[in-house]
Amino acid sequence: MSDVVVIGLGPAGLSAALKLVESGRSVLLAAKGEGGFQLSQGTVDVLGYSPGRVANPLAAIGELPAGHPYASIGAEKVRDAVAWLRDTLGEELLVGDPAQNYVLPTAVGAMRPTALAQPSMVAAHQAASYAVVGVRQLKDFPAELLAGNLGCRAAWIDLPARREVDSSGHMFARAIEDPAYAKRFAAAVAAAAPDGAVLLLPAILGVKPGTWRRVADQVGRPIAEVPMQPPSVPGIRLHDALLAKFKAAGGRVIIGSRVVGCKTNGGRVASVTLAVAGGTRDLRATDFVFAPGGFASGAITVDSRGKISEPLFGLPLTQTDANTLIGPDYWAPHPLFEVGVETDAAGRAKYENLYLAGDIIAGAERWREKSGEGIAVATAVRAAESIMGGRA
Ligand SMILES: Cc1cc2nc3c(=O)[nH]c(=O)nc-3n(C[C@H](O)[C@H](O)[C@H](O)COP(=O)(O)OP(=O)(O)OC[C@H]3O[C@@H](n4cnc5c(N)ncnc54)[C@H](O)[C@@H]3O)c2cc1C
Repeated sequence: MSDVVVIGLGPAGLSAALKLVESGRSVLLAAKGEGGFQLSQGTVDVLGYSPGRVANPLAAIGELPAGHPYASIGAEKVRDAVAWLRDTLGEELLVGDPAQNYVLPTAVGAMRPTALAQPSMVAAHQAASYAVVGVRQLKDFPAELLAGNLGCRAAWIDLPARREVDSSGHMFARAIEDPAYAKRFAAAVAAAAPDGAVLLLPAILGVKPGTWRRVADQVGRPIAEVPMQPPSVPGIRLHDALLAKFKAAGGRVIIGSRVVGCKTNGGRVASVTLAVAGGTRDLRATDFVFAPGGFASGAITVDSRGKISEPLFGLPLTQTDANTLIGPDYWAPHPLFEVGVETDAAGRAKYENLYLAGDIIAGAERWREKSGEGIAVATAVRAAESIMGGRA
Protein backbone atom coordinates (compact mmCIF):
# COMPACT_ATOMS: atom_id res chain seq x y z
CA MET A 1 0.00 0.00 0.00
CA SER A 2 1.38 3.41 -1.04
CA ASP A 3 0.27 6.88 -0.13
CA VAL A 4 -0.02 7.68 -3.83
CA VAL A 5 0.08 5.69 -7.06
CA VAL A 6 0.94 7.82 -10.10
CA ILE A 7 0.07 6.45 -13.56
CA GLY A 8 2.24 7.83 -16.37
CA LEU A 9 5.89 8.66 -16.99
CA GLY A 10 5.45 11.78 -19.12
CA PRO A 11 6.04 15.35 -17.96
CA ALA A 12 2.82 15.26 -15.91
CA GLY A 13 3.39 11.94 -14.13
CA LEU A 14 7.06 12.64 -13.42
CA SER A 15 6.34 16.13 -12.06
CA ALA A 16 3.50 14.97 -9.81
CA ALA A 17 5.48 11.98 -8.57
CA LEU A 18 8.55 14.07 -7.74
CA LYS A 19 6.58 16.80 -5.99
CA LEU A 20 4.77 14.19 -3.88
CA VAL A 21 7.80 12.14 -2.93
CA GLU A 22 9.66 15.31 -1.95
CA SER A 23 6.77 16.11 0.42
CA GLY A 24 7.41 12.81 2.22
CA ARG A 25 4.65 10.69 0.64
CA SER A 26 5.39 7.10 -0.35
CA VAL A 27 4.87 7.11 -4.13
CA LEU A 28 4.71 4.31 -6.68
CA LEU A 29 4.92 5.39 -10.31
CA ALA A 30 3.58 2.91 -12.88
CA ALA A 31 3.79 3.34 -16.66
CA LYS A 32 3.46 1.11 -19.69
CA GLY A 33 6.24 3.02 -21.48
CA GLU A 34 8.22 6.22 -21.77
CA GLY A 35 6.37 9.53 -21.93
CA GLY A 36 6.41 12.65 -24.06
CA PHE A 37 9.81 14.07 -23.07
CA GLN A 38 11.65 11.69 -25.42
CA LEU A 39 9.48 12.95 -28.27
CA SER A 40 9.84 16.59 -27.33
CA GLN A 41 12.33 19.36 -28.01
CA GLY A 42 13.64 19.16 -24.43
CA THR A 43 12.14 22.57 -23.73
CA VAL A 44 9.07 23.54 -21.69
CA ASP A 45 6.41 25.21 -23.81
CA VAL A 46 3.92 27.16 -21.67
CA LEU A 47 1.96 28.97 -24.39
CA GLY A 48 3.45 29.68 -27.80
CA TYR A 49 0.40 30.59 -29.90
CA SER A 50 -3.01 31.96 -28.91
CA PRO A 51 -3.75 32.05 -31.84
CA GLY A 52 -0.92 34.39 -32.95
CA ARG A 53 2.61 34.01 -31.59
CA VAL A 54 2.77 34.80 -27.86
CA ALA A 55 5.63 36.81 -26.34
CA ASN A 56 4.47 36.64 -22.69
CA PRO A 57 2.70 33.36 -21.88
CA LEU A 58 1.54 34.46 -18.43
CA ALA A 59 -0.18 37.56 -19.80
CA ALA A 60 -1.82 35.49 -22.56
CA ILE A 61 -3.13 32.91 -20.07
CA GLY A 62 -5.47 35.57 -18.69
CA GLU A 63 -7.17 35.80 -22.11
CA LEU A 64 -7.89 32.06 -22.51
CA PRO A 65 -11.50 30.76 -22.56
CA ALA A 66 -13.06 29.29 -19.39
CA GLY A 67 -12.72 25.66 -20.50
CA HIS A 68 -8.95 25.82 -21.02
CA PRO A 69 -6.89 23.84 -18.45
CA TYR A 70 -4.92 26.99 -17.54
CA ALA A 71 -8.09 28.99 -16.87
CA SER A 72 -8.97 27.15 -13.67
CA ILE A 73 -5.36 27.25 -12.42
CA GLY A 74 -4.54 30.89 -13.13
CA ALA A 75 -1.36 32.54 -14.39
CA GLU A 76 0.33 32.84 -10.98
CA LYS A 77 0.04 29.14 -10.19
CA VAL A 78 1.21 28.25 -13.69
CA ARG A 79 4.24 30.52 -13.17
CA ASP A 80 4.99 28.91 -9.79
CA ALA A 81 4.68 25.37 -11.15
CA VAL A 82 6.93 25.98 -14.16
CA ALA A 83 9.46 27.86 -11.99
CA TRP A 84 9.43 24.92 -9.57
CA LEU A 85 10.38 22.54 -12.38
CA ARG A 86 13.14 24.89 -13.62
CA ASP A 87 14.60 25.38 -10.15
CA THR A 88 14.30 21.69 -9.27
CA LEU A 89 16.23 20.66 -12.37
CA GLY A 90 18.73 23.51 -12.01
CA GLU A 91 20.29 25.92 -14.46
CA GLU A 92 22.43 23.29 -16.18
CA LEU A 93 19.17 21.85 -17.54
CA LEU A 94 16.53 24.58 -17.77
CA VAL A 95 16.72 28.35 -17.95
CA GLY A 96 14.19 31.03 -18.79
CA ASP A 97 11.16 32.85 -17.54
CA PRO A 98 7.56 31.72 -18.00
CA ALA A 99 6.68 35.39 -18.59
CA GLN A 100 8.98 35.69 -21.63
CA ASN A 101 9.22 33.25 -24.51
CA TYR A 102 12.48 32.47 -26.26
CA VAL A 103 12.24 32.13 -30.03
CA LEU A 104 14.48 29.28 -31.19
CA PRO A 105 15.07 27.52 -34.52
CA THR A 106 13.76 24.04 -35.19
CA ALA A 107 15.74 21.49 -37.22
CA VAL A 108 13.94 22.61 -40.39
CA GLY A 109 14.57 26.29 -39.73
CA ALA A 110 11.16 27.42 -38.47
CA MET A 111 11.29 29.78 -35.47
CA ARG A 112 9.48 28.37 -32.44
CA PRO A 113 8.46 30.09 -29.17
CA THR A 114 9.12 28.32 -25.87
CA ALA A 115 9.26 29.46 -22.23
CA LEU A 116 12.09 27.36 -20.78
CA ALA A 117 14.99 26.01 -22.78
CA GLN A 118 18.24 24.24 -22.07
CA PRO A 119 21.24 26.56 -21.62
CA SER A 120 22.88 24.90 -24.63
CA MET A 121 20.11 26.30 -26.89
CA VAL A 122 19.61 29.89 -25.87
CA ALA A 123 22.46 31.54 -27.82
CA ALA A 124 20.16 31.07 -30.82
CA HIS A 125 17.55 33.44 -29.34
CA GLN A 126 17.61 36.75 -31.25
CA ALA A 127 21.09 36.06 -32.68
CA ALA A 128 22.23 38.54 -35.33
CA SER A 129 23.47 35.78 -37.65
CA TYR A 130 23.73 32.01 -37.79
CA ALA A 131 25.83 29.32 -39.44
CA VAL A 132 24.82 25.66 -39.39
CA VAL A 133 27.20 22.74 -38.86
CA GLY A 134 25.94 19.25 -39.68
CA VAL A 135 27.60 15.88 -39.15
CA ARG A 136 27.63 13.65 -42.22
CA GLN A 137 27.18 10.39 -40.29
CA LEU A 138 24.24 11.72 -38.22
CA LYS A 139 20.84 10.97 -39.68
CA ASP A 140 17.91 13.34 -39.16
CA PHE A 141 19.72 16.69 -39.17
CA PRO A 142 19.04 18.44 -42.49
CA ALA A 143 21.73 21.14 -42.18
CA GLU A 144 21.17 22.56 -45.68
CA LEU A 145 17.39 22.81 -45.23
CA LEU A 146 17.85 24.50 -41.86
CA ALA A 147 20.43 26.92 -43.27
CA GLY A 148 18.34 27.61 -46.37
CA ASN A 149 15.29 28.54 -44.32
CA LEU A 150 17.35 30.75 -42.03
CA GLY A 151 19.20 32.36 -44.94
CA CYS A 152 22.67 31.31 -43.73
CA ARG A 153 25.47 28.90 -44.66
CA ALA A 154 25.76 25.20 -43.85
CA ALA A 155 29.03 23.37 -43.30
CA TRP A 156 29.60 19.66 -42.69
CA ILE A 157 32.03 17.71 -40.59
CA ASP A 158 32.96 14.03 -41.04
CA LEU A 159 33.27 12.33 -37.69
CA PRO A 160 31.55 8.99 -37.12
CA ALA A 161 30.41 8.28 -33.57
CA ARG A 162 31.04 4.59 -34.15
CA ARG A 163 31.33 2.54 -37.32
CA GLU A 164 27.79 3.15 -38.58
CA VAL A 165 27.31 5.51 -41.50
CA ASP A 166 24.01 6.85 -40.12
CA SER A 167 24.11 6.95 -36.33
CA SER A 168 21.30 8.33 -34.15
CA GLY A 169 21.60 11.51 -32.11
CA HIS A 170 21.71 9.49 -28.91
CA MET A 171 24.70 7.54 -30.19
CA PHE A 172 26.57 10.77 -30.91
CA ALA A 173 25.59 12.18 -27.51
CA ARG A 174 27.08 9.11 -25.84
CA ALA A 175 30.26 9.39 -27.92
CA ILE A 176 30.67 13.06 -26.94
CA GLU A 177 30.80 12.02 -23.28
CA ASP A 178 34.27 10.67 -24.16
CA PRO A 179 36.65 13.67 -23.73
CA ALA A 180 38.92 12.52 -26.57
CA TYR A 181 36.02 12.28 -29.04
CA ALA A 182 34.57 15.59 -27.78
CA LYS A 183 37.92 17.31 -28.44
CA ARG A 184 38.05 15.99 -32.02
CA PHE A 185 34.42 17.00 -32.52
CA ALA A 186 35.01 20.55 -31.24
CA ALA A 187 38.14 20.97 -33.38
CA ALA A 188 36.27 19.81 -36.50
CA VAL A 189 33.38 22.23 -35.81
CA ALA A 190 35.76 25.16 -35.23
CA ALA A 191 37.62 24.38 -38.48
CA ALA A 192 34.46 24.02 -40.58
CA ALA A 193 32.44 27.01 -39.47
CA PRO A 194 32.79 30.65 -40.44
CA ASP A 195 33.58 33.25 -37.77
CA GLY A 196 31.17 35.83 -36.41
CA ALA A 197 27.92 33.84 -36.28
CA VAL A 198 26.17 31.67 -33.71
CA LEU A 199 26.92 28.09 -34.72
CA LEU A 200 23.80 25.92 -34.82
CA LEU A 201 24.66 22.30 -34.06
CA PRO A 202 22.45 19.23 -33.79
CA ALA A 203 21.35 18.60 -30.19
CA ILE A 204 23.83 15.82 -29.55
CA LEU A 205 26.24 17.52 -27.16
CA GLY A 206 26.21 14.87 -24.46
CA VAL A 207 23.66 12.89 -22.55
CA LYS A 208 24.71 14.61 -19.32
CA PRO A 209 23.60 18.18 -18.62
CA GLY A 210 26.98 20.01 -18.46
CA THR A 211 28.79 18.25 -21.33
CA TRP A 212 27.82 20.83 -23.98
CA ARG A 213 29.71 23.53 -22.06
CA ARG A 214 33.02 21.70 -22.42
CA VAL A 215 32.41 21.38 -26.17
CA ALA A 216 31.48 25.08 -26.39
CA ASP A 217 34.68 26.08 -24.57
CA GLN A 218 36.74 23.99 -26.97
CA VAL A 219 34.97 25.38 -30.06
CA GLY A 220 35.63 28.87 -28.66
CA ARG A 221 32.61 30.50 -30.32
CA PRO A 222 28.93 30.88 -29.41
CA ILE A 223 27.07 27.66 -30.20
CA ALA A 224 23.46 26.57 -29.87
CA GLU A 225 21.98 23.08 -29.92
CA VAL A 226 19.01 22.60 -32.25
CA PRO A 227 16.64 19.76 -31.19
CA MET A 228 16.02 17.01 -33.74
CA GLN A 229 13.45 14.30 -34.34
CA PRO A 230 12.76 11.70 -31.62
CA PRO A 231 14.35 10.20 -29.70
CA SER A 232 15.28 13.65 -28.47
CA VAL A 233 18.58 13.93 -26.61
CA PRO A 234 17.53 17.12 -24.74
CA GLY A 235 14.20 15.47 -23.87
CA ILE A 236 16.02 12.41 -22.55
CA ARG A 237 18.15 14.70 -20.35
CA LEU A 238 15.00 16.13 -18.71
CA HIS A 239 13.37 12.72 -18.34
CA ASP A 240 16.47 11.10 -16.87
CA ALA A 241 17.06 13.93 -14.40
CA LEU A 242 13.47 13.90 -13.11
CA LEU A 243 13.40 10.13 -12.81
CA ALA A 244 16.77 10.07 -11.01
CA LYS A 245 15.56 12.71 -8.54
CA PHE A 246 12.36 10.77 -7.92
CA LYS A 247 14.26 7.55 -7.23
CA ALA A 248 16.85 9.32 -5.08
CA ALA A 249 14.03 10.71 -2.92
CA GLY A 250 12.71 7.18 -2.32
CA GLY A 251 10.14 6.86 -5.13
CA ARG A 252 9.46 3.43 -6.62
CA VAL A 253 8.89 2.80 -10.34
CA ILE A 254 7.34 0.04 -12.43
CA ILE A 255 7.95 0.61 -16.16
CA GLY A 256 6.69 -1.65 -18.93
CA SER A 257 3.39 -2.79 -17.41
CA ARG A 258 0.01 -1.43 -18.39
CA VAL A 259 -2.70 -0.40 -15.95
CA VAL A 260 -5.78 -2.23 -17.24
CA GLY A 261 -8.50 -1.50 -14.71
CA CYS A 262 -9.42 -0.34 -11.25
CA LYS A 263 -11.32 -1.42 -8.15
CA THR A 264 -13.52 1.14 -6.49
CA ASN A 265 -15.20 1.44 -3.15
CA GLY A 266 -18.11 3.86 -3.11
CA GLY A 267 -16.84 7.16 -4.40
CA ARG A 268 -13.16 6.23 -4.03
CA VAL A 269 -10.60 4.30 -6.05
CA ALA A 270 -9.25 1.47 -3.88
CA SER A 271 -6.65 0.10 -6.30
CA VAL A 272 -5.55 0.02 -9.92
CA THR A 273 -4.87 -3.24 -11.70
CA LEU A 274 -1.54 -3.75 -13.41
CA ALA A 275 -1.05 -6.37 -16.13
CA VAL A 276 2.06 -8.35 -15.22
CA ALA A 277 3.61 -11.51 -16.63
CA GLY A 278 1.17 -14.34 -16.04
CA GLY A 279 -1.62 -12.28 -14.46
CA THR A 280 -2.46 -9.05 -12.74
CA ARG A 281 -1.40 -7.18 -9.64
CA ASP A 282 -3.45 -4.69 -7.62
CA LEU A 283 -1.71 -1.47 -6.60
CA ARG A 284 -3.46 0.01 -3.57
CA ALA A 285 -3.06 3.58 -2.39
CA THR A 286 -4.82 6.37 -0.53
CA ASP A 287 -4.70 8.69 -3.57
CA PHE A 288 -4.15 8.23 -7.30
CA VAL A 289 -2.71 10.61 -9.90
CA PHE A 290 -3.85 9.72 -13.42
CA ALA A 291 -1.42 11.17 -15.98
CA PRO A 292 -1.71 8.76 -18.92
CA GLY A 293 -1.54 11.30 -21.79
CA GLY A 294 -4.33 11.55 -24.37
CA PHE A 295 -4.98 10.20 -27.86
CA ALA A 296 -1.28 9.96 -28.72
CA SER A 297 -0.52 7.58 -25.84
CA GLY A 298 -3.72 5.52 -26.17
CA ALA A 299 -5.29 6.85 -22.97
CA ILE A 300 -8.27 8.15 -24.93
CA THR A 301 -9.50 5.82 -27.66
CA VAL A 302 -11.84 6.01 -30.67
CA ASP A 303 -13.63 2.85 -31.82
CA SER A 304 -14.54 1.95 -35.41
CA ARG A 305 -17.85 3.82 -35.11
CA GLY A 306 -16.17 7.02 -33.96
CA LYS A 307 -17.12 6.67 -30.28
CA ILE A 308 -14.53 8.26 -28.01
CA SER A 309 -13.91 6.87 -24.55
CA GLU A 310 -11.51 6.69 -21.61
CA PRO A 311 -11.40 2.94 -20.99
CA LEU A 312 -9.59 2.68 -17.64
CA PHE A 313 -11.82 4.53 -15.16
CA GLY A 314 -14.70 5.23 -17.57
CA LEU A 315 -14.24 8.95 -16.99
CA PRO A 316 -16.79 11.28 -18.62
CA LEU A 317 -15.39 13.07 -21.69
CA THR A 318 -16.33 16.50 -22.97
CA GLN A 319 -17.37 14.98 -26.33
CA THR A 320 -17.84 11.40 -27.45
CA ASP A 321 -18.53 11.47 -31.21
CA ALA A 322 -15.30 11.73 -33.21
CA ASN A 323 -17.18 11.92 -36.52
CA THR A 324 -18.17 15.53 -35.89
CA LEU A 325 -14.83 16.68 -34.49
CA ILE A 326 -12.43 16.56 -37.44
CA GLY A 327 -12.69 19.22 -40.13
CA PRO A 328 -11.69 18.95 -43.82
CA ASP A 329 -8.79 21.43 -43.54
CA TYR A 330 -5.70 19.67 -42.15
CA TRP A 331 -4.19 22.92 -40.80
CA ALA A 332 -7.41 24.21 -39.21
CA PRO A 333 -8.15 23.51 -35.53
CA HIS A 334 -9.79 20.10 -34.97
CA PRO A 335 -12.02 19.98 -31.87
CA LEU A 336 -11.15 16.27 -31.49
CA PHE A 337 -7.82 17.20 -29.96
CA GLU A 338 -9.49 19.24 -27.23
CA VAL A 339 -11.52 16.26 -26.05
CA GLY A 340 -10.67 15.08 -22.56
CA VAL A 341 -11.94 15.05 -18.99
CA GLU A 342 -13.07 18.09 -17.04
CA THR A 343 -11.87 18.28 -13.45
CA ASP A 344 -12.92 20.14 -10.34
CA ALA A 345 -10.76 22.95 -8.93
CA ALA A 346 -8.54 20.42 -7.10
CA GLY A 347 -7.92 18.47 -10.33
CA ARG A 348 -10.27 15.57 -9.49
CA ALA A 349 -12.75 13.70 -11.68
CA LYS A 350 -15.45 11.11 -10.88
CA TYR A 351 -13.74 9.78 -7.73
CA GLU A 352 -12.82 11.81 -4.66
CA ASN A 353 -9.23 10.49 -4.58
CA LEU A 354 -8.51 10.43 -8.34
CA TYR A 355 -6.48 13.46 -9.51
CA LEU A 356 -5.82 14.13 -13.18
CA ALA A 357 -2.80 15.75 -14.81
CA GLY A 358 -1.55 16.40 -18.33
CA ASP A 359 -3.07 15.58 -21.71
CA ILE A 360 -6.05 13.67 -20.28
CA ILE A 361 -7.54 17.03 -19.23
CA ALA A 362 -9.87 18.64 -21.78
CA GLY A 363 -9.79 22.03 -23.40
CA ALA A 364 -6.50 22.62 -25.28
CA GLU A 365 -5.02 21.69 -28.63
CA ARG A 366 -1.53 21.37 -27.20
CA TRP A 367 0.63 20.82 -30.26
CA ARG A 368 -0.93 23.85 -32.00
CA GLU A 369 -0.79 26.15 -28.96
CA LYS A 370 2.64 24.86 -27.85
CA SER A 371 1.21 24.43 -24.37
CA GLY A 372 1.50 20.69 -23.68
CA GLU A 373 4.42 20.69 -21.28
CA GLY A 374 3.22 23.75 -19.37
CA ILE A 375 -0.24 22.25 -18.90
CA ALA A 376 1.33 18.95 -17.85
CA VAL A 377 3.52 20.57 -15.19
CA ALA A 378 0.88 23.00 -13.90
CA THR A 379 -1.83 20.35 -13.57
CA ALA A 380 0.65 17.90 -12.00
CA VAL A 381 1.64 20.43 -9.36
CA ARG A 382 -2.05 21.19 -8.71
CA ALA A 383 -2.75 17.47 -8.25
CA ALA A 384 0.21 17.05 -5.91
CA GLU A 385 -0.66 20.14 -3.85
CA SER A 386 -4.30 19.03 -3.57
CA ILE A 387 -3.13 15.70 -2.17
CA MET A 388 -0.55 17.35 0.10
CA GLY A 389 -3.18 19.78 1.33
CA GLY A 390 -5.48 16.90 2.23
CA ARG A 391 -8.29 18.18 0.06
CA ALA A 392 -9.22 14.64 -0.99
C1 LIG B 1 2.77 15.13 -32.64
C2 LIG B 1 2.78 15.88 -31.34
C3 LIG B 1 3.46 17.08 -31.26
C4 LIG B 1 3.47 17.81 -30.06
N1 LIG B 1 4.14 18.97 -30.01
C5 LIG B 1 4.14 19.69 -28.86
C6 LIG B 1 4.85 20.90 -28.76
O1 LIG B 1 5.50 21.35 -29.68
N2 LIG B 1 4.81 21.56 -27.56
C7 LIG B 1 4.10 21.10 -26.50
O2 LIG B 1 4.10 21.73 -25.43
N3 LIG B 1 3.43 19.94 -26.56
C8 LIG B 1 3.44 19.24 -27.71
N4 LIG B 1 2.76 18.06 -27.78
C9 LIG B 1 2.05 17.62 -26.59
C10 LIG B 1 2.97 17.01 -25.54
O3 LIG B 1 3.69 15.95 -26.11
C11 LIG B 1 2.08 16.51 -24.42
O4 LIG B 1 1.25 17.57 -23.99
C12 LIG B 1 2.85 15.98 -23.20
O5 LIG B 1 3.72 14.94 -23.54
C13 LIG B 1 1.80 15.48 -22.21
O6 LIG B 1 2.41 14.91 -21.12
P1 LIG B 1 1.63 13.82 -20.24
O7 LIG B 1 2.55 13.53 -19.13
O8 LIG B 1 0.26 14.28 -19.98
O9 LIG B 1 1.46 12.55 -21.20
P2 LIG B 1 2.53 11.68 -22.00
O10 LIG B 1 3.80 12.40 -22.17
O11 LIG B 1 1.81 11.20 -23.22
O12 LIG B 1 2.81 10.43 -21.03
C14 LIG B 1 1.81 9.48 -20.76
C15 LIG B 1 2.40 8.36 -19.94
O13 LIG B 1 1.35 7.52 -19.49
C16 LIG B 1 1.67 6.15 -19.78
N5 LIG B 1 0.41 5.41 -19.92
C17 LIG B 1 -0.63 5.66 -20.76
N6 LIG B 1 -1.61 4.76 -20.56
C18 LIG B 1 -1.18 3.91 -19.59
C19 LIG B 1 -1.72 2.76 -18.96
N7 LIG B 1 -2.94 2.27 -19.27
N8 LIG B 1 -0.98 2.13 -18.01
C20 LIG B 1 0.25 2.59 -17.66
N9 LIG B 1 0.81 3.67 -18.25
C21 LIG B 1 0.11 4.33 -19.18
C22 LIG B 1 2.51 6.26 -21.06
O14 LIG B 1 3.28 5.08 -21.25
C23 LIG B 1 3.37 7.46 -20.70
O15 LIG B 1 4.43 7.09 -19.85
C24 LIG B 1 2.76 17.32 -28.93
C25 LIG B 1 2.10 16.09 -29.02
C26 LIG B 1 2.10 15.40 -30.21
C27 LIG B 1 1.36 14.10 -30.27
